[in-house]
Amino acid sequence: MSDRPVLSDLARFLRQREELGAGSLVFVSLPRDDLARLLREGRARGRAAQGSPAPAGDPPALRSVPTPPTVPSIQGAAAPSELPSEHEPLRELALGCVRCPLSEGRTQVVFHDGSPDARLMVVGEAPGANEDASGVPFVGAAGKYLDLLMASVGLSRRESVYICNVIKCRPPGNRNPKPDEIAACSGWLKRQIEVVNPEVILAVGTFSAQLLTGKDIALGRLRGEIYSYEGTPLVVTYHPAALLRNSRWTRPSWEDFQLLRRVMDPT
Ligand code: SF4
Repeated sequence: MSDRPVLSDLARFLRQREELGAGSLVFVSLPRDDLARLLREGRARGRAAQGSPAPAGDPPALRSVPTPPTVPSIQGAAAPSELPSEHEPLRELALGCVRCPLSEGRTQVVFHDGSPDARLMVVGEAPGANEDASGVPFVGAAGKYLDLLMASVGLSRRESVYICNVIKCRPPGNRNPKPDEIAACSGWLKRQIEVVNPEVILAVGTFSAQLLTGKDIALGRLRGEIYSYEGTPLVVTYHPAALLRNSRWTRPSWEDFQLLRRVMDPT
């Protein structure tokens, strides 16, 4: 059987990890020896195409770990009943949250930006260093890029958008949130969505898109559709930080924002 489908799956996986900003790679679905063989053969094919000789020695050692749980969906689960059903009391309570170990390393909880009366709710992944320092989601270069994309369809965070993240405290080293941290924090997001009650939700980045759609599919295949988050239309797109690293996703992102605009204001 040809290795090409496996290699193309691997390439898809690497692209997804790059988009998430992962600093290290962990291969979970291929036996170590098979993966080493595929990479060796892939490199040999690349060298043959370029006419360069093979270097001596084995490929670098690869690390195998148990398969982690996929990103869980938060659709269908109820927000904890003790959480306030108005925005300001909810925010104040969240600012003191110590439900998971991420509270130990944060500077502050990053709850939201924008108006709770907004028509559009943007849901990202987790705070980074700038957000942890400022207490505001999507600041820095990625935040400016998001603002530009929103402005391209006549939206602004000051007037028409509510912005938050799935996880409210910065994971150390910007690593991906762990399933138990998502479970601990998801009640805040669920209640936020209930309280803001947006007309449309925009999930930015693979992590948020998979969590809100409940589909464990690469973002490149998820985007371009209109989903439903418990009855609210949901559009997904690339994370602006990923666009800063790879301009190839700029056009699809622009198309996603056009789709978002059509969902918000069908003609
Ligand atoms: S990440 Fe969420 S659950 Fe964990 S401490 Fe922060 S607000 Fe609480």
